[in-house]
Amino acid sequence: MSNEHVLNNESEKLASAEAAPAEAEITKENELKPANVSAADLQALKQKLAQRPKLLLAGGAALAAVLLLAVALSFALAGEPAAILVNGQQVAALKDEEQANAAVAAYLAEQTKEIGSEVFFAEQVTVAPEAREGSDVLSRNKALDALALTTTLKTNGAAILVDGQPLVFTADEQTAKQALENLKLTYLPEDDTMQVLDVKFKQEIQVQPQEVLVADLANLDEAKLAMKDTSLTGEAPVTVLVVLEKTKVEEVPFNTSYEVDGTLRYGQTKVKQAGVNGSREVTIQLAQANGEEIARQEISSNTLVKPVEEIVLEGAVVQTASRSLTQASEAGMIWPTTATRISSYYGPRSGDNHSGLDIDGDAGDPVWAAKSGTVVSAGYHGTYGNEVVISHGDGLQTRYAHMQSISVSVGDEVEIGQQVGLEGSTGNSTGSHLHFEVIINGSTTDPLLYIK
Ligand SMILES: [Zn+2]
Repeated sequence: MSNEHVLNNESEKLASAEAAPAEAEITKENELKPANVSAADLQALKQKLAQRPKLLLAGGAALAAVLLLAVALSFALAGEPAAILVNGQQVAALKDEEQANAAVAAYLAEQTKEIGSEVFFAEQVTVAPEAREGSDVLSRNKALDALALTTTLKTNGAAILVDGQPLVFTADEQTAKQALENLKLTYLPEDDTMQVLDVKFKQEIQVQPQEVLVADLANLDEAKLAMKDTSLTGEAPVTVLVVLEKTKVEEVPFNTSYEVDGTLRYGQTKVKQAGVNGSREVTIQLAQANGEEIARQEISSNTLVKPVEEIVLEGAVVQTASRSLTQASEAGMIWPTTATRISSYYGPRSGDNHSGLDIDGDAGDPVWAAKSGTVVSAGYHGTYGNEVVISHGDGLQTRYAHMQSISVSVGDEVEIGQQVGLEGSTGNSTGSHLHFEVIINGSTTDPLLYIK
């Protein structure tokens, strides 16, 4: 082929330089093909002319004669213009059938080389020995352009089917399988303390050899991206399920228990035994879908170091455990304020008798009716300061003293828990606290028998 090309060029050059009379005919026949003149012949002739300028005229005449013969022969050998048909429609006319076949072959060869897999036409492409009357004869390059415009190419590639539906097309099965493997790898953890137990696709995935349009071909990366693409439905069309196992050591926090101690006063605590955290080795299994955790399960747990319980001793002088602001005691009373610390008990005190229970608290803390009843006293009364007395019937009364303010009046029916005032330090008081009394038939008694 290259020989033939050289020959054409040489003959044209020589023709224009040395054989003016033949020029017109040669240019008219632009696909000149001097079938029986060899390149060697021409080369020899050319050298002869160059070496012997004296023989120029004679040589030129000889060359002209040869070329004229060649032209005559090529006319005789060339057939009618032939056509390339796509699905029966003429898309190009070439000089002859051979040229038409060569153009088709060249196009496929060129595309095969470019795409990297053997391609064929999706349409029926044929060569007809005779072009339509009056067709323009095209050069090979123009014919290739015409084929590119009027045909589509296919190759024997592969499709990745997701639940039976083709999703991605590749040039071969190998590429499709590799893209699937690469997709799996995307979702495997980099953390090498995790053991991969299983990797699989949620959907049914098949790689199927099939004819594929060249325009639809995806390379390795494109195929992987197509399987991860969430732009269509919001979800990737392919889901990689990974099951991982991990064993780790984790801390086990100690528990704290409380013991009542009769030697400690209320509010005092003492650590009898300090707590120490333990540790355990735990094996968990994780399930992930496209990298997102969807399930987690503890498979096994093995105690390495048992935690040591912390034991705290609590003062037992006053039992605090059942003190409740919302639940009434057995006697039907609730604790009458928010503070719980007792600063002074009922009974003998510095040669005197303390008539109630002093509950330490802050000025402004609410003071509640310990039980439902009727307000029988409400006002400032000497050493009690602002006080409220509520009668609960059956000779039972409660007193709330030293309050900052009073919010009920004599005769009011109050419900258990209803606010009667705010804690303060009025009357004979050295600091904000609630002085709370329980009175039975006019005599005070220990309030802790009634509230807890
Ligand atoms: Zn008191």
